[in-house]
Amino acid sequence: MNDIRYIGYDPLVTFLRENGEKPFRAKQIWTWLWKRGAGSFDEMTDLSVALRTKLQENFTFHRAEIAEEARSSDKTTKFLLKFHDGKMVEGVLIPSKERVTACLSTQVGCPLHCAFCATGTMGFIRNLHYSEVIDEYVLLNNRAQEIYNQHITNIVFMGMGEPLLNFDNMMTAISILTGKDYFALSPTRITLSTAGIIKGIKALADRGFRCGLAISLHSADPNVRNQIMPVTEGNPLHDLQAALAYYHQKTDERITIEYLLLSKVNDSEKAAEQLARFCRPFPVKINIIEYNSTPDSLFHKSDPTRRNAFIAVLERCNMVVNIRQSKGQDIAAACGQLMRKTVKSLEI
Ligand code: SF4
Repeated sequence: MNDIRYIGYDPLVTFLRENGEKPFRAKQIWTWLWKRGAGSFDEMTDLSVALRTKLQENFTFHRAEIAEEARSSDKTTKFLLKFHDGKMVEGVLIPSKERVTACLSTQVGCPLHCAFCATGTMGFIRNLHYSEVIDEYVLLNNRAQEIYNQHITNIVFMGMGEPLLNFDNMMTAISILTGKDYFALSPTRITLSTAGIIKGIKALADRGFRCGLAISLHSADPNVRNQIMPVTEGNPLHDLQAALAYYHQKTDERITIEYLLLSKVNDSEKAAEQLARFCRPFPVKINIIEYNSTPDSLFHKSDPTRRNAFIAVLERCNMVVNIRQSKGQDIAAACGQLMRKTVKSLEI
């Protein structure tokens, strides 16, 4: 049996016609699925019981569920979300003064093996279907209201996975999240973070992508970046720089650069100069992220003297720099620094 959310609108209309139902019922069902975030046929209370039964007999409805939840002392909440096949991803709610930001995943595992990332060690398991990305949003939005008495205000796709390697599902999910007839979220409140997949960045540019784009850069030195982010091999820095210039030219958007400061790896003044040079062709905002070491970490947090000298170089080059404090242990790192064991180790 097909999941109802895997079939398109037209096949749904055909199904309704074949079953003696009026085609306009498709619009009602669609609204339940993609605007109200229904989790079952029983919730579709403006459909007749007979139609709901017919739907139940002909389609499955694979809704994700929250398998585990843990709250940090800074009120950040981490979730493990479980899909119909038992596979799990992480999602995080990060409250601040007037916002609740949701950090969502795009793949189960990740194929990119960044050296500082726990998700990378899992390897790639599978892409999320767009309906599963929507489930992440709906489930976390419900919990945001229960926990913080506030809806999700911002979404960052910085959880597990590389969104641009799940391009079609991500584009569909974002169009459902932002579509006027769907969840109608503002594109300016959604940020997609990539490790630098050049083909995907160009494709976003050609589509006139309207959400925020963040690049997990972490080094502008080809040799260093290659070592900590093997994705650099097939996506060299000079081509990435050209792709970002193209992106800016097409969209007129400023690009966010995420930079995880790793002691004596990428935190020298020379590294800051390389970063400033890399960013020269387009406007950027640079987020410096402080690394949280764990007992088995390969890397260490940059000390304050090196960090301040690094930032001073960027400021002398007139770069806009923010220092991001990590929240909920190491969840605030550029992308995918979420792992199951950290969920388990948080205070609950
Ligand atoms: S940091 Fe992001 S891109 Fe790199 S391995 Fe982790 S999840 Fe994948």
